[in-house]
Amino acid sequence: MSTSDEFSIANSDAALCRRRKTRILATLGPGSSSHDMIRKLFIAGVDVFRLNMSHGEHSDKAELVDRIRAVEREFGRPIAILVDLQGPKLRIGKFADGPITLTEGAEFRLDLDPAAGNSDRVQLPHKEIFAALEPGTDLLLDDGKIRLTVTACDGASARCKVRVGGPLSDRKGVNVPGVVLPLAAMTEKDRRDLSFMASQDIDWFALSFVQRPDDIAEAKKLVAGRAAVMAKIEKPAAVKALDGILELADGVMVARGDLGVEEPLEKVPGIQKHIIRTARRMGKPVVVATQMLESMINAPVPTRAEVSDVATAVGDGADAIMLSAESAVGDYPVEAVRVMDRVAHQVETDPSYLATYERRTALNTTAEDAISSSAKAVAETVGAVTIVTYTTSGTTAIRASRQRPNIPVLTLTPNMSVARKLALVWGLHTVKTKDVESFEHMIAKAKRMALRHELASGGDRIVITAGVPFGTPGATNVLHIAWVTGDELDDYDESVDA
Ligand code: PGA
Ligand code: MN
Repeated sequence: MSTSDEFSIANSDAALCRRRKTRILATLGPGSSSHDMIRKLFIAGVDVFRLNMSHGEHSDKAELVDRIRAVEREFGRPIAILVDLQGPKLRIGKFADGPITLTEGAEFRLDLDPAAGNSDRVQLPHKEIFAALEPGTDLLLDDGKIRLTVTACDGASARCKVRVGGPLSDRKGVNVPGVVLPLAAMTEKDRRDLSFMASQDIDWFALSFVQRPDDIAEAKKLVAGRAAVMAKIEKPAAVKALDGILELADGVMVARGDLGVEEPLEKVPGIQKHIIRTARRMGKPVVVATQMLESMINAPVPTRAEVSDVATAVGDGADAIMLSAESAVGDYPVEAVRVMDRVAHQVETDPSYLATYERRTALNTTAEDAISSSAKAVAETVGAVTIVTYTTSGTTAIRASRQRPNIPVLTLTPNMSVARKLALVWGLHTVKTKDVESFEHMIAKAKRMALRHELASGGDRIVITAGVPFGTPGATNVLHIAWVTGDELDDYDESVDA
């Protein structure tokens, strides 16, 4: 595809509508931070950009936010920005001369010395951990790829024997699965990062190494409504406390990287299904993350197993699938997004998978659930092509998505930050638009917007949900069937809806 093709296709609302319902998150990093690359990733299908606070400076992150917003302005489609706080993740320091290689049986030391490391030692800048270690404790480095056993330890260093070796580079993670570490949910760095990023134009915070519902409560207090809060499930304790955590969180991530180190790897697929099912039941968007297309860091095509993994996550009912190193530092970030796009789209239209979406979802006794589930049923009965949902807070749209209708949900909201937040949610095509003032106005706009975004054409029926009085959060109480004639855009003045 030539660049000019890409531009014209990308500039049509229809292309950007993305009939794909599963959302794609891509992590930005050194390999993908330029304006041009962010733009390419968006065109390829990214709905949400993830900024990883484990790396880089505040000023870099602010610049990325500006670049993403510039792309958003260019294409006129809301984009979500998710800021991933590092949390109490243990990481080693840096090496003086690039990556080292640890060989089995060798000695290696971790200590508090900030000096750059070498093949004998490296810094582990967490004083509290040395007190919790003892001879025989296993340490897992770089997502468990490297295994060390502590042979001797004092309050400031640990001598280790390499049990499983391999290459080791700057700032890789350290897990101590057998030991409960006395760590707070949010570090000083997390608080600084949160306070800075909350003043930027961002939409979601992800909280790492959540252990208990209180961790979410504390974060929400600090965020104070400036963004939504996602719980990353990567600790056994969080899996146990899942319901309580999800009660408070706005969304959840199956963070398989650390989860697969803290729990036996073979348990991760089952835990993934359990988290997705619980999140769906509770109506919270759920993201599946880490190593989805790992081999694409260095190769332009994925393995069969990776394709199968992406398909499984989509079939399980995830709202979104995520790229980490593939897009942050990989050689083929755009190709990785395209693979996710194609696989998700295929699963969504594959008869073998469609049954999963048909599964009934239990309802809450709220007007939103009554209207949203009826909207799906009515749309199927009358053969409507789109559900149009008016939402003020985003709640009704999320409830509509939770029903997993097999037609698009065109979400209309006057609130840009709601529109952006919803970019993470399954099956929603959200448009920021002026509030409506009357019933007639509401129906007329729904038809216009469905036409404009090519989600309906002349002769189609659409189903509309809204709340009267208009603009009141939690007031969803109207379900309407409308007929699109196709001439609703005649003499159309865009400023009416902008
Ligand atoms: P991370 O989180 O990439 O920040 O570690 C995701 C995971 O652990 O899977
Ligand atoms: Mn993690």
